[in-house]
Amino acid sequence: MNRKKATAIKAVLFDLDGVLYVGDHMIPGAIESVCHIHNSGLPVAGLTNTTTQPKSAIARKLAEFGIPIHASDIYTPAALAKQAIGDGCAKLYVRDSLLEDFQGIRTTDSNPDYIVMGDLGGEGYTPDLLHAIFNAVMDGATVLALHKNRFWQKPDGLHLDIGPFVAAIEYATGTEATILGKPSQDFFHGVCSALHVAPESALMIGDDIESDIGGAKDAGLKTALVQTGKYREDFVRATGIKADLVLPSIADLPDYR
Ligand SMILES: [Mg+2]
Repeated sequence: MNRKKATAIKAVLFDLDGVLYVGDHMIPGAIESVCHIHNSGLPVAGLTNTTTQPKSAIARKLAEFGIPIHASDIYTPAALAKQAIGDGCAKLYVRDSLLEDFQGIRTTDSNPDYIVMGDLGGEGYTPDLLHAIFNAVMDGATVLALHKNRFWQKPDGLHLDIGPFVAAIEYATGTEATILGKPSQDFFHGVCSALHVAPESALMIGDDIESDIGGAKDAGLKTALVQTGKYREDFVRATGIKADLVLPSIADLPDYR
């Protein structure tokens, strides 16, 4: 591991999928790097746009890998969505497995105040389902998108994420969805505030140039792009976004003590 000294970092925020693991496979060096930061006394947090699993399952997966990021250190868009819905009623387009993160909110199939768009798995957003969302929004519902990622990396290759479907609804209705996960600045600022660090003293490590790096930069954080997971050189170049650091993988993280 490259342990060159770096300065002024007081907290390290990790994207999870593509940085520490891809699917069920841990990226070599992930445990060592997170343990090193953890043992040096810096707060660590996991920021994930994952909408396929509840926070409890993500925490279990990290624990099974032996990576010391605990449930209380994991930040997901579902919690923000729940907060945004408040006393309103919502129609949830999320996997059943995510429902535990929405416990306590009012749900409805007709005239919802909010439509929550999350990951739906295999069948996903069919034309019929998009048609239903379109009409609900035309009738006044607000779309809360758990994120707007364009695509994601699975073990068998790249797949469409929910972003293209959120964009389709925005385009058809002429409205803008509220994006709750990365790259929302509120998401990054909320985590920094929970960790009691200023955004400029926090480092965000991610494999998504737009959601992780672009979002964190806009929010004032330092950034490190890893060339694992969904990283694609051409795509990074096309965005014009530059991370403060580019690392072959999480194993190459510098020393932030
Ligand atoms: Mg990722």
